[in-house]
Amino acid sequence: MSEGAQKKQEKARKFQAIRGTRDLLPPDTALWNHVEQMAREVFSTFGYGEIRPPIFEATELFARGVGGDTDIVSKEMFRLQDLPEEELTQRLAYLQTMISYSAVSPSDGEPLLREFVARVIEFIDSYRSASQKGLVHRTESNDRRLSYLESHLGGLKGLENESGQRNFPYKLAETTNYFKVEIRDIALTEPKVLRPEATASVCRAYIEHNMQQWPQPVKLYYIGPMFRRERPQKGRYRQFYQIGAEVLEAVRPDAAKDAGKELAKDAAVDAEVIEMLMTFFERIGLQGTELSVNSIGHAADNCRRGYVDALREELQKVKEQLGADSQRRIETNPLRVLDSKLEHEQAIIAKLPHIADHLCDECKTHYAELKRQLDLRGVVYKENWRLVRGLDYYMRTTFEITARGLGSQDAVCGGGRYDGLVELLGGPPTKGIGFAIGEDRVILSLQEQQGKEVASGDWRAASSRTSIDVYVTWMGANNYATALHAAKMLRANGFRVDMPTMELKFGKALERASKLNARFAVILGDNEVQSGEWTVKNLADGSQQKLTEAALLEYLRR
Ligand code: ATP
Ligand code: MG
Repeated sequence: MSEGAQKKQEKARKFQAIRGTRDLLPPDTALWNHVEQMAREVFSTFGYGEIRPPIFEATELFARGVGGDTDIVSKEMFRLQDLPEEELTQRLAYLQTMISYSAVSPSDGEPLLREFVARVIEFIDSYRSASQKGLVHRTESNDRRLSYLESHLGGLKGLENESGQRNFPYKLAETTNYFKVEIRDIALTEPKVLRPEATASVCRAYIEHNMQQWPQPVKLYYIGPMFRRERPQKGRYRQFYQIGAEVLEAVRPDAAKDAGKELAKDAAVDAEVIEMLMTFFERIGLQGTELSVNSIGHAADNCRRGYVDALREELQKVKEQLGADSQRRIETNPLRVLDSKLEHEQAIIAKLPHIADHLCDECKTHYAELKRQLDLRGVVYKENWRLVRGLDYYMRTTFEITARGLGSQDAVCGGGRYDGLVELLGGPPTKGIGFAIGEDRVILSLQEQQGKEVASGDWRAASSRTSIDVYVTWMGANNYATALHAAKMLRANGFRVDMPTMELKFGKALERASKLNARFAVILGDNEVQSGEWTVKNLADGSQQKLTEAALLEYLRR
């Protein structure tokens, strides 16, 4: 292709939303707003305040907070490339690229090895001085890499003698490769990712803003986009939206004294969180929701660990009958086998030991109290011993809600208790419980339920594309100012108003008004403007009358 043709083709490129992302458009956005508004209202009646954490955070926050073994962290995060800002670190970044891509030839007399060594030395020296000035991101793994480089530098130099002859040509590629890889993997800036979830962010914020000094518990909710690199399909996107809430509470120093009371209190908090969630689903009119609850015990030796061991032992016996994923999970995370949707594994899983038989007394008390509290609040639930949830940080209470019309992606909310997560992130001993609602799936389910084109509910009336209240038109340039005044006055009174940007003939104006689904047209010609009586046409029944400004407002309000 010629350069010109290529340029032309580039210019002609049609941009599309990136795979797994999508535009939310009117009238659907009215439904999104309605759902979010209901969340705000319901959550605030339970005493929650809104938190808006940033969209990107340190990779490490999620690696620690969500768990390095989870799919979310190990393969689904969107990493951000953040370039160094200072001159010295920019030089480091340049050296890093040059070194990682250098080809070092094994043939004698090539000056490339000496150049390579010189760059490596400059890199190490620059890194050390940038590090002293606090300009590079200090991590243990960076330090480890640096020491490795320094201790092997002699070996690298020794590959060539004073006169430029190669001493160990066969070692050249291997040794320089080590240097390339180590240097490439040094993180000059703090690695950052788009957030895959927000619980870790909320915990970080709790620590950062010393919220343990606020009145306890701290109740927060958030609404916003999350990012995970999953295979896009119905109800599964790479940018999706969650509405979530968290309750965080500093552990009182004397909590251990009255453990029974403490457990009952925790269970009441859990039940209230779930009650709030179900109230929200009821308020938005989501039908066919099913709440499942479970207790997955806690991480101490006699409780979940005992169960995991028992599970692993049973799984070993049936290993040959399981699929590859489950086989792998026997070692890595046997609880996740319970999550399997594979048809042929279901009968096998049904015979596995139940966690309820392994819970310690404390977890048993807590779980029984949770169920009693849910009953007291009239919350209907199912117990599901296989509900384990994917994130590492959960303990005791876990729950999930499914809805209709979503096919296999039918979970619209997941949540659980995560005492200890704040501590894991470097904060004080803190209890936590929360949930995240998948807003995209909630919307899908609502739309499925209502039928896409059926007009029902306020959100559709509020939509900007479906209808306006008044179309204001004028005849004659002299009357334009009055039309502008009329539009301004009507909008100030809360009516949705549209007007053409140029004067239109009478017939054309009415045609436009009915295309826009306007309920009324206000027509301003010489007569109207001079007499102060404006013509208003009801577009539904075709009736027409003349009214003063005040009378028009009165009429439209009716
Ligand atoms: P799933 O098993 O469906 O992948 P999950 O366990 O990964 O869900 P959580 O991390 O608990 O989900 O997130 C809570 C909710 O967020 C889910 O129940 C779901 O409704 C929604 N959700 C999660 N991932 C996506 C996604 N990629 N696209 C749309 N919604 C999602
Ligand atoms: Mg998932």
